[in-house]
Amino acid sequence: MPAGVRLVAVSKFHPVPALREAYDAGQRLFGESRVQELLEKIPQLPSDIQWHFIGHLQTNKVRSLIGRTALIESVDSERLLELIDRESERAGVITRVLMQVHVAREETKFGFYPEELQQYFTDRKFESLKATHICGVMGMASNTDDMERVRRDFRNIYSIFRAIRDNESLGLRGFDIVSMGMSGDWKIAVEEGSDLIRIGTRIFGSREY
Ligand SMILES: *Cc1c(COP(=O)(O)O)cnc(C)c1O
Repeated sequence: MPAGVRLVAVSKFHPVPALREAYDAGQRLFGESRVQELLEKIPQLPSDIQWHFIGHLQTNKVRSLIGRTALIESVDSERLLELIDRESERAGVITRVLMQVHVAREETKFGFYPEELQQYFTDRKFESLKATHICGVMGMASNTDDMERVRRDFRNIYSIFRAIRDNESLGLRGFDIVSMGMSGDWKIAVEEGSDLIRIGTRIFGSREY
């Protein structure tokens, strides 16, 4: 893996001993997609783990998640972002987030469409946030064997990220993370500029849901 690319070990549905093994091998970044599961795992593992939340976050779970994450990668609506901000302010913490962008065909219905995300920034809505730091974007490629399609999706995500980052009139600071790439497509994601890859199956084996 090229220097500078960070690995999130996606441990959802895997038991604590599996995470402990990865921890003992030096892994410190873990990704979970369900609030309840994350909250159960946190007290059973060392406190220097950095937890990334990567799943669809329901609004009624926001309060219990705030203050527990190094990064929420999956902000998929303005409403959710505003709620995260309100709860963070209330708790007296700054929450770091990524905006999830939706470019893939049909796999997930979550995320901002590219035009929506652009609009959010050109309307300067981020300026009203008091306790939330938008650090970049997260995206998924289409779930397909067509690797050219996957590459196009990643290129698309990266170009959306770059257009926002390089728009100097926005005056964004610390907008510098693009999270893309999973077990089946991480190499392509890294070639297309990913900073953060999220790997589950390749580390922990297949999940039993
Ligand atoms: C589950 C999940 C992953 C990991 O997927 P694998 O194919 O097991 O590597 C990555 N990102 C998100 C958002 C996920 O939900």
